[in-house]
Amino acid sequence: MPRIWIDGSWIEKADAKISVFDHGLLYGDGVFEGIRAYGGRIFRLRQHLERLYASAKAIWLEVPVPFDVMARICEEAIRLNDLQDAYIRLLVTRGVGDLGLDPRKCPKASVICIADRIALFSPEVYERGLTMMTAATPVHHREGVSPRIKSLNYLAHILAKIEAIAAGADEALMLEAGSGVSEGVGENVFCVRKRVVVTPPAYAGILRGITRDAVLEIAAQAGYEVRESNLTRYELFTADEMFLTGTAAELVGVVKLDGRVIGDGKVGPVTRDLAARFKALVARES
Ligand code: PMP
Repeated sequence: MPRIWIDGSWIEKADAKISVFDHGLLYGDGVFEGIRAYGGRIFRLRQHLERLYASAKAIWLEVPVPFDVMARICEEAIRLNDLQDAYIRLLVTRGVGDLGLDPRKCPKASVICIADRIALFSPEVYERGLTMMTAATPVHHREGVSPRIKSLNYLAHILAKIEAIAAGADEALMLEAGSGVSEGVGENVFCVRKRVVVTPPAYAGILRGITRDAVLEIAAQAGYEVRESNLTRYELFTADEMFLTGTAAELVGVVKLDGRVIGDGKVGPVTRDLAARFKALVARES
């Protein structure tokens, strides 16, 4: 029986419940992380926790657990649940308050840690590549709820996903509020042109992905030129290759965007090379 950490106790899945007065539920008031383990070891846990604590800081939320204890909770979640290749969902909510939104009525934040498995797409999709559609719904403005904050409010991304599904695409591309390409609904976006690997910069309206940063590193090590620069859809339409990166998705090729075939319509050689290098990295580092 899977066991889930809620505020200091490991609770069996069937009994793992939170209050309906938790502001994470009532208002999406909280932050989270999605983290992977390979062979029982967690990939880049420090970076995930740094992002979690930074997200919490940005929404004025005090995480009630110190950094090193949080790391131990994640490791324990894998061990206790006897998992090897796993996905950890770590949440910090504003906690229990009243029906008003004033966070001062929530005396203590809640910490929840769930360890499970995840498969976003089937193996065939990784082989053939994704089809994408640009959603009408943009990511939040970077000076609003900054996309850098991994908050519990994913409604814009969920709407984008629904729009893509309704249009018959596998995944949605989201634009920045204003202009430019931002990200997928749970992934960062890359394109390849003449073997130069390009992704939007972290200060743009994106969540700065841990996978994105790892792929930029391995691409540079492999001798590709890498560039962080603003992208428009035009640059994606005319790229040789396009792919997405994310903890859950890992590295997945994109073969069609808004009806335009990307490159030759197959998952490209640079994408395949980087996917193999990413696999080797997680095996080595975890
Ligand atoms: N953008 C969004 C909106 C996401 O939810 C995620 C998944 N955390 C990413 C990008 C990719 O980030 P990472 O590589 O850290 O999983």
